[in-house]
Amino acid sequence: MTLFLPDTPAPELDNYWCVFDGQQLWLEDGRFCHQPPAQHTAPRYIGHNGKFNLFSTELIGSAPAHWQCHSLRQSLQGLPASAVALLARAAQLRRFEQSHRFCGACAQPLQAHQHDSGRSCPSCGELYYPRLSPAMMVTISRGRQLLLARGPQFTPGMYSALAGFVEPGETLEACVVRETAEEVGVRIHTPRYVGSQSWPFPHSLMLAFTAEYADGDIVPQAGEIEDAAWFDIDDLPLTPPGHSIAHWLIQHTIMEIRQREAR
Ligand SMILES: [Zn+2]
Repeated sequence: MTLFLPDTPAPELDNYWCVFDGQQLWLEDGRFCHQPPAQHTAPRYIGHNGKFNLFSTELIGSAPAHWQCHSLRQSLQGLPASAVALLARAAQLRRFEQSHRFCGACAQPLQAHQHDSGRSCPSCGELYYPRLSPAMMVTISRGRQLLLARGPQFTPGMYSALAGFVEPGETLEACVVRETAEEVGVRIHTPRYVGSQSWPFPHSLMLAFTAEYADGDIVPQAGEIEDAAWFDIDDLPLTPPGHSIAHWLIQHTIMEIRQREAR
């Protein structure tokens, strides 16, 4: 989904409001709110997705009785795909502003930029931009089987693609190979990039790959991987739902395997 990030709202589109309240978010019938609350902080324009403009603000006082309060994670899973990227952006900009109020070099208050999301120090000139942490995710195929794994914190019975953060100095492709070897002990070849998603926990940029199995037996990494196994694409366990890139990547890989079989 394309995001448009002009300085000012697109006049032809409707305006919606992303209303934060501590760790929670207020929604109206499972969507962003049509109006801001009666009392709120100065609004911030987030951008638009070609369908609507989004503003974010913080609730002061109480919310209208017909609004519902959700966690950020619940909101991302429940909102339509067209809204997910805007919410990911709103949440990350909010976190950046909350965590970058003062200069890390000289402790003076930072000033927000007018035309981008950066902040700068009027005293020493240090520049700050929202942090993005690239992380890879990979599905590994062997014939019509997928290698999926689960971490100790997963919903019971749920398995997903392998994932891990890119280390300084490392290429994405090298990260895919290294994380796979570390997490499940197998070697892969031909990692191919297939898509990405901004994921605000807290500022990940998830980069999705597919890869082919080369050799090695599965050895789950102690403490990180509770279980990992090969699953036939017609007999998969519970996998991540909704608009997460894990869901999309697993479905994409299944489609690729079916297309290979049909040839
Ligand atoms: Zn400074």
